[in-house]
Amino acid sequence: MGKVKLTTDAYVDYLKAVTEKIASEKDYITELDATTGDGDHWVNMNTGFTKLMEIETQLRELDFSGLFKKAAMTIMSGVGGSSGILYASAYLKAAAVLSGVEVMDAEMLLKVLDAELQGIMQRGNGKPGFKTMIDPLYQAVEAMKNALPEGDSAAVSAMREGARLGMEATKDMEAVRGRAYYQANKGVGHLDPGAVTMFYQLDILGNAALKTI
Ligand code: ADP
Ligand code: MG
Repeated sequence: MGKVKLTTDAYVDYLKAVTEKIASEKDYITELDATTGDGDHWVNMNTGFTKLMEIETQLRELDFSGLFKKAAMTIMSGVGGSSGILYASAYLKAAAVLSGVEVMDAEMLLKVLDAELQGIMQRGNGKPGFKTMIDPLYQAVEAMKNALPEGDSAAVSAMREGARLGMEATKDMEAVRGRAYYQANKGVGHLDPGAVTMFYQLDILGNAALKTI
């Protein structure tokens, strides 16, 4: 059973792949947030990842903990909206569990994703089932926990599938957090934009992790 061996270089490659994915989904994400929120979610996410890519060389010189702290600071200072604050909190929490880590296996990756989940839930006072970016991340973490005894490859595949299911589940949920809460139908019938962009990140991260096995 092969192990995941994510290095900081592989992680920055992953950030780059997400930047390209987000850039290519401009119309779809903007439309989702225009329907359930205020239409700026794509701009916020695209700004965040573009800013990270502007310091790509600098990011590649850092260790994991430094990379995550730098990412948190860059997102915090450069990205507006709820998602800016929430992603900065996620990266900051994850930086703490990455202290001294040089290579991530699946068990470490799970710790990182769990820390991100806790960071987002604490900062936004949210929970699974509230129709937010939390839903795909929560289901990804739970599925990964359950599959970890079967090995790294199974754990990462389960993580991706959990992320997909969590995103899809937001379609029928009534929003409890985020702007969709203020809508008459609480966004029912539409995917949450933050859940979709979270799914992209987890799916691409899973792909990047599997490639290292
Ligand atoms: P804003 O809502 O301030 O316009 P964005 O449009 O960038 O910010 O992000 C909206 C997304 O943020 C929502 O789709 C939802 O997934 C997520 N979100 C908003 N508030 C919260 C919260 N309190 N907890 C978790 N996620 C949230
Ligand atoms: Mg918005």
